[in-house]
Amino acid sequence: MTNGIDLDELLIAHAAGHLGEAAALVVAAHLCLCPESRRRYRLYETLGGLLLEELPPEPLAPERRQRVLAVLGEEVADSAQPDRTGDDAGASGNPLPAPLRARLPAPLDCCPWRRSGALAELPLAAPPGEPARLRLLRLEPGAAVPAHGHEGLELTLVLEGRLCDGERMLGPGDLAIADASTVHAPRAGEGEGCLCLLCAA
Ligand code: ZN
Repeated sequence: MTNGIDLDELLIAHAAGHLGEAAALVVAAHLCLCPESRRRYRLYETLGGLLLEELPPEPLAPERRQRVLAVLGEEVADSAQPDRTGDDAGASGNPLPAPLRARLPAPLDCCPWRRSGALAELPLAAPPGEPARLRLLRLEPGAAVPAHGHEGLELTLVLEGRLCDGERMLGPGDLAIADASTVHAPRAGEGEGCLCLLCAA
């Protein structure tokens, strides 16, 4: 989490159709892998429909937004049954969720990876007019991305292995959100490399 957008705000923006195509793909892939985010996303979709019917076309005041998020959080906590809808990746043993598989030109090992030391990058084609870069990144165990800042939103979805981002250790399905306030140098877990999907403005 950063001082900028957090996961709930990202899910709300996705539910409202406000994300660019590259960011929307990363969030859609995250939703395939994370049952908790799927439950929250569906609540935001439902709430969005209700708000459109009842509210004037203005942003929610911060206090009202916090109350809405608190109510939704309570509903999520009350949900007893795990939701497996869309959880297609873990069940098949394939680390790639369906929205991402559909964008790959070939099986991962047959794609033209660009290798640089302990890192390998596979750029993914972006639609016309999409300013964000979309790519897959492989890190060998213990390898780190060079320290960097960001001009806009950066989303990193872990697909395989472990990624240490600051004090947070991410596993498959976890999403890291960075923005202009973030300077970091994510590192693969020791003894375990990782495969990530990145979108950066
Ligand atoms: Zn970054």
